[in-house]
Amino acid sequence: MRILLAEDDRVIADGLIRSLKKAGYAVDHVANGSEADAGLLTQQFDLLILDLGLPKLSGIEVLKRLRGRKNALPVLILTAQDGIEDRVRGLDAGADDYLTKPFALPELEARVRALTRRGTGQPTKIEVGPLSYDQSDRIARLGGEVVDLSARELCLLEVMLLRVGRLVSKEQLVEHMCGWDEVPGLTVGASACGIEGRSRFPDGA
Ligand code: CA
Repeated sequence: MRILLAEDDRVIADGLIRSLKKAGYAVDHVANGSEADAGLLTQQFDLLILDLGLPKLSGIEVLKRLRGRKNALPVLILTAQDGIEDRVRGLDAGADDYLTKPFALPELEARVRALTRRGTGQPTKIEVGPLSYDQSDRIARLGGEVVDLSARELCLLEVMLLRVGRLVSKEQLVEHMCGWDEVPGLTVGASACGIEGRSRFPDGA
């Protein structure tokens, strides 16, 4: 699962990145609206976390452009406490959910889980032979026994289970598991990724 985080407040962004990465998501971060727009044009994400008060291009404008392209990517907006009008404008512009700053990280994580589940359009429980994986609580079981996996291993498992029966390319694995600034460092198939990090805008946008 890959998340684009558009937030210009460095402290909030750092906290979100740490917490989402710990939960096993690949997170790409931009600090202004133009970069968010460019990233959304050129890359695939599973969720956008969008601060509405962004420099260069407002969050509302980023959202309007995204929906104008008929892109149904789940969007969670972050608004100021007194920003009731912003919230309404955001939801009207096509946001799926909102969080008011300051928010508790567990609440954010719960909303992210709900939105990414909705976005895949897949059942939350996937079973392949003796292996089962529940996306809602991110627990893998083999023959009924819980398998102890790291957040990153769960992410790898999830990418493959969501594509059972289809070929998963190295690029797809890296895309879903590694942020822009990360060099793939998986213990499973680390060198198999064979790609030295990823560029933000491969098309030069
Ligand atoms: Ca802001």
